Amino acid sequence: MAIIEVSNLKKSYGKLDVLKQITFDVNKNDVVAVIGPSGSGKSTMLRSLIHLEEINGGSVRVTGDYLVKDGVYSKAQEVKKITSKMGMVFQHFNLFPHLTVKENLEIAPKMLKTESISAIQQRSAELLKKIGLSDRATAYPANLSGGQKQRVAIARALMMNPEILLFDEPTSALDPELTGEVLQVMKDLAEEQMTMIVVTHEMGFAKEVANRVMFMDNGEIIESGHPEDLFNNPQFERTKAFLNRNL
Ligand code: ADP
Ligand code: MG
Repeated sequence: MAIIEVSNLKKSYGKLDVLKQITFDVNKNDVVAVIGPSGSGKSTMLRSLIHLEEINGGSVRVTGDYLVKDGVYSKAQEVKKITSKMGMVFQHFNLFPHLTVKENLEIAPKMLKTESISAIQQRSAELLKKIGLSDRATAYPANLSGGQKQRVAIARALMMNPEILLFDEPTSALDPELTGEVLQVMKDLAEEQMTMIVVTHEMGFAKEVANRVMFMDNGEIIESGHPEDLFNNPQFERTKAFLNRNL
């Protein structure tokens, strides 16, 4: 079953075409790694899926419902319903600095009143346990390491029971010794069949965890395939050149 269907997605900033007719599907339980040079449009593509960017043409469907169809967005209420099926994890964590770890997890479901307070509290306790931070529930983000902050950001995204998680370079802001703990949480999620799109420079993670790798360059998906095929036998010169620089 397709969780996300993107067709002919176009995005420009003025005269700059940042995304040029992007088309791809993500199926349930897929882990898609998106790789490509800086400025190739990876973040813009990801942000478009969750309506943090307005696109200029094409369609995005999430679990069958149109977020945008042929460049026309669905009604605000529908857009809200659709984007709530997706969770996003950013490079710079984007935690609320004035809220504790537990409060960061609980604020969105409490505001949206999707569940009872006790169900929300039970879920945040479970997720803190899952990421190994039960003992930091009352800490503020400023008192956590980067790796801990990113684990909290992942747990916060999971609080809304998303159909799919989107990650934009989740380990790029971390000291090298802290990337492992974040990648491990993501690996655990993949093993639990979470559907994920991960923009990443971690080629090891892409090889080991993803079932599909998409290479983007200059606003286009140049090629996409199983990690073993794409890494060992890239079909296009641009892919080969990128991999030569980054593997
Ligand atoms: P990536 O994530 O692959 O590094 P981005 O999606 O961030 O690439 O950016 C793609 C292109 O769009 C780049 O040329 C970037 O400069 C441009 N861009 C991104 N955001 C904006 C913006 N808000 N205004 C103008 N240009 C932008
Ligand atoms: Mg980016």
